[in-house]
Order: sequence, then C-alpha cells, then structure tokens
Amino acid sequence: MNKVANVLPNEKKTVKSSINTAKRYYSKHVDFFRLINKMKLWPSRKGILHGVKSFKEMGVNAELITHCNETIIIKNSRNSRAARWLRNKWFAGSCNKCKIPQWKIDKYATTVFNKRWGSQLIEKK
Ligand SMILES: [Zn+2]
Repeated sequence: MNKVANVLPNEKKTVKSSINTAKRYYSKHVDFFRLINKMKLWPSRKGILHGVKSFKEMGVNAELITHCNETIIIKNSRNSRAARWLRNKWFAGSCNKCKIPQWKIDKYATTVFNKRWGSQLIEKK
C-alpha cells in the first residue's frame, strides 16, 4: 500500500501548477552550445535576457549575435557565468531591442534543468 510513497523519498512534489503546460526537461550537464542553439536566449552580464539572432560555432568558441546586434564570443563551458545563469534563470528583465516574444519567455520559464536526467539535446542523425 505504501509502495508509491517509498519510490522517490527525496523527490519534492511538483503538482502545484494547475495550468497544463508541457514542461521540457533538460539535463544540467547538457552541452552549453547545444543549449544556446536550442533556447536562442542569452543572459548578459547585467542580467538582461537577449534573443539570439545568429550562432556560429568556431571550434571551442562560438560567435553569438543578439537581435540588438551585439557580438559576443563565448566558450563552450557548462560552468561559465552565462551557462549557470541560463540554467538558474537568473535574469532581471529582457532586452527591449531584442523583443523576445512572450511565448519564448514562458517556454523558458517552464523549462526544467535536472541533475539526474533530461535531454542532452543530442540531434538524431
Ligand atoms: Zn538585446
């Protein structure tokens, strides 16, 4: 009878959302470039979320151009500031020049990063 309760003793209950939004689960260990490519969002140092217009991988680095035409060279590191901020959803607002659509922000808000499981965003060929 108590079987269900014993399966995941450390799992917090996450039934608070009454809206039926399809959550996306990404692994916390997901490749950072893949993540940027998928989300098309960039958290700046000031905590502003920008939309990604162009993303070009160049070996260990990548050139990222935001919709407000800022060019940023980034390193593929899961532990970089931007990677952490993106995973933790630390941002103070979104760029008004980039005009990120609300659905994109909503989608980002419902994305869950999980330590143990979730998509690694590896494309199937
Ligand atoms: Zn911007």
